[in-house]
Amino acid sequence: MSTVRTVAELRSALAPARRDGLTIGLVPTMGALHEGHLSLIARAREQCDRVVVSVFVNPAQFDERADLERYPRDERRDAELAAEAGADLLFAPAVEEVYPQGFATTVEVLGVSERLEGAARGAEHFRGVATVVTKLLCMAMPDVAYFGQKDAQQLVVIRRLAADLNLPVRIAALPTVREPDGLALSSRNALLAPAERARALALPAALQAARELAADGERSAEALLDGAREAMRAFGVEPEYVELVDPDTFEPASSLAGETLLALAARIGEVRLIDNAMLAPVRRADQPLEGEAIATCSA
Ligand code: AMP
Repeated sequence: MSTVRTVAELRSALAPARRDGLTIGLVPTMGALHEGHLSLIARAREQCDRVVVSVFVNPAQFDERADLERYPRDERRDAELAAEAGADLLFAPAVEEVYPQGFATTVEVLGVSERLEGAARGAEHFRGVATVVTKLLCMAMPDVAYFGQKDAQQLVVIRRLAADLNLPVRIAALPTVREPDGLALSSRNALLAPAERARALALPAALQAARELAADGERSAEALLDGAREAMRAFGVEPEYVELVDPDTFEPASSLAGETLLALAARIGEVRLIDNAMLAPVRRADQPLEGEAIATCSA
């Protein structure tokens, strides 16, 4: 695996593959690679002839300077892990390569960007994400780009921009990789002190509590969200938000009518973590599914 730092180098490294009609997969990351990232690289390896991993800590999507400054960085280790997982090329540009002097264009996805993470972190967060992902797709021109369901709202934003801008790329989504105790892998987990690491289990516990309620037939958003919040409080964690939303639009859902996404965010000390789970309604004998009449027996 080789490392390239400029768009010109990236394009010339990919030119022979493109000329030969080979497929190119792109895995955009901010580095500090973990098993979640590696699952995306491994899938790209299975599905594509050439695999590019980008490592770029995108300043435009950070709403807090301190978060950007302490974001973990270890390019040498990232290069080793990416190579082991099957990457052919690591694209690790400098900030000036991505945002040269005079840069003045941004991509903004309306609607879905405005809720949850967008509301909590401000419009610049998803504007930064949408702009950098659009740029990375234009730079590498992959056939497929791989993203994690861990960042569910980001995934919807990216699907929207790819469709709206007619980008000739397939957006592939992979499930969240978790630690054995349920904590979703995240580069920010490395910043948790041991006591904070234990409290971070509030997030998977909240998802589990809601999942259990749903499995018992609970469909009211209020009850599911109360259950999730209660589970977090048991760890001494106050959520920043816990919401039940339509997984395609991120509009709030008042009940579990079909597959619905439970999304949450919480700060554990200085570290802000997010997680989500898809909930599906189960049918209790006394409950019709939405739009369905209760069958009555007439003698
Ligand atoms: P990041 O480096 O955090 O920007 O993440 C790069 C890509 O990896 C994004 O598409 C994330 O959704 C994905 N990702 C991050 N954490 C996980 C995880 N635990 N499981 C699967 N994918 C993940």
